Amino acid sequence: MAVILRPGRNEEGWSRDVRCEGEDDSPGCGALIRVTKDDLFAYKFGETALLCPCCGMRVLIDEPFTDLPSEQTWRDTHPDPQQEAEEETRRAQATVYHGC
Ligand SMILES: [Zn+2]
Repeated sequence: MAVILRPGRNEEGWSRDVRCEGEDDSPGCGALIRVTKDDLFAYKFGETALLCPCCGMRVLIDEPFTDLPSEQTWRDTHPDPQQEAEEETRRAQATVYHGC
């Protein structure tokens, strides 16, 4: 009987904390971002990337998924993550100031 020595990756519940280190010669902003699979798209030659919600740059990560959308498809089906993050921050600030 087979014994699982180490469970395989559960892609549905996958998440990882990555640092924004940009791509190639772009340094990135250094933000620490928690990403889920829904944040990822296929980039160039089998690479996996996401858009940093802090600086808007592409961040390449070393995580080989085979069924990711293309960057264009991802952009067409997701709101701008940078704009989303700004709105989220505004909402959070509005909550803090409410009732003062
Ligand atoms: Zn960044």
